[in-house]
Amino acid sequence: MASFDDSIADGYSAAQLFGQGSTYTYDDVIFLPGHIDFGAHEVDLTTNLTKKLRLSTPIVSSPMDTVTEAEMAITMAMMGGLGFLHYNMKLEEQVAQAQKVKRHVPGFVMTPTVLQSSNTIADFEALKASRGVSSVCITEDGRVGSRLVGIVTARDTDFVNDRLTQLGELMTRDVETLSDDVSAEKAMEALKSSKRKSLPVVDSNGNLVRLASRAVCLEEARMPRRGAASTGPDGRLLVGAAVGTRDDDRRRVDALVAATAVDAVILDSSQGDSTYQLDMLAYLKRAHPDLQVVCGNVVTSGQARRLIQGGADALRIGMGSGSICTTQEVCAVGRGQAAAVWQVSRLAASLGVPTIADGGVQNSGHIVKALALGASTVMCGSLFAGTSEAPGEYFVVDGVRVKQYRGMGSLEAMAKGSEARYHSDTQNLKIAQGVSGTVRDKGSIRKTVPFLMQAVRQGFQDLGSRSIPAAHAALAGGVMRVEARSTAAQAEGGIHDMHSFNKVRW
Ligand code: 5GP
Repeated sequence: MASFDDSIADGYSAAQLFGQGSTYTYDDVIFLPGHIDFGAHEVDLTTNLTKKLRLSTPIVSSPMDTVTEAEMAITMAMMGGLGFLHYNMKLEEQVAQAQKVKRHVPGFVMTPTVLQSSNTIADFEALKASRGVSSVCITEDGRVGSRLVGIVTARDTDFVNDRLTQLGELMTRDVETLSDDVSAEKAMEALKSSKRKSLPVVDSNGNLVRLASRAVCLEEARMPRRGAASTGPDGRLLVGAAVGTRDDDRRRVDALVAATAVDAVILDSSQGDSTYQLDMLAYLKRAHPDLQVVCGNVVTSGQARRLIQGGADALRIGMGSGSICTTQEVCAVGRGQAAAVWQVSRLAASLGVPTIADGGVQNSGHIVKALALGASTVMCGSLFAGTSEAPGEYFVVDGVRVKQYRGMGSLEAMAKGSEARYHSDTQNLKIAQGVSGTVRDKGSIRKTVPFLMQAVRQGFQDLGSRSIPAAHAALAGGVMRVEARSTAAQAEGGIHDMHSFNKVRW
């Protein structure tokens, strides 16, 4: 009787699957499991964002005006990823945002709430209500950076009836402070021994520079295990910024590099294979040889090759895959994201260039797929929109707490200046390639990202890959096997046949 030979590979290699004439999204493909001989905690997700920049967490936030400003970029870098600042704002504002990231010292409040002695109890109470603070620093001119003259807490004001009493009359003048070379660990010890909620940090001239805060320390300590923060050789957090390809954008990059030593720029275009992008790339490589330049977006090997030959340090992959995007519907151009990531990454890897899988990521499984199919990092918009670190205020719609999330090609975003991304700046008629809407309050990315990464580690363990390069090698060598999922297989792979259920992810 003939015996079954399991040395004959099951499933298909990626080259076979993607060579069949269909375009596939993440949901269309599924990986077959590999052999496990290591724990999920041993999976190393360290990766290259660009040729020169390394990250301990393979995820970056998208340069969209409802996703990444300084707060998102700081938190992403603290967790081992990176944020790309959007550029739907004036040059000076983008520089200020990048400076904020670069000046951030982990473990501290960098922009404490400050008033001056002439402010009243009513002013203090307004701040308590709007920002939830229980104390304010009093400086000479009411700003961070000027001389600290006192501190006011609710205990100073509680029993004062006249709400127009000036804070100068009530404040504690003899304030315990920390010097500005204090480390986060030493600051935490000082908070512990002093039993105070916060301690101002001052420079040698007595100017307020930041605040050591018990709440921030406790929050950091409670955070789940995460990758090492993304920092440069000078210890400052890494940050990226998006720019366009016009002459003005050259000045923008010059200013960003001069003022903040920004680590990477993204040439932000929905279709990056253009002479505009190649010319800008040539200029940046001449003017700022140390700057890492991410080009894109691309979805084919031909597009990728031209940009790599022009000197791109990384490629951003995706056209029409974003959750807010209507490019495929409006322009009939694009590609399924799984196919795009595989095809472009295969070419880029052969030329030593890392790729960023941009758009269409809805869950940890999509991140596993993007990384296993050849990307070195994933870029997310919708996953991070609606978090507390995303720009914008929460508001309530039909009883649900939401924040705005909009495509940079939506009419609303283009009205603020992002139309260059869609090559529509010279047109009289603006055509939207994105929509504007809302997403639910998702809490903080401090919680989301570590849980996502733990899920990704478990996915890699199931694949039998200990690291991202190991997965890339297994896929390229045909060892890792894939299949397309039929519609029924996708339904089967989701939750089904339940009367009701509660999907709690972590
Ligand atoms: P998401 O993570 O929400 O699925 O996708 C985010 C990505 O969609 C962004 O990083 C960007 O590449 C792309 N994107 C952002 N805004 C628009 C838009 O208005 N139109 C299109 N076509 N793509 C967009």
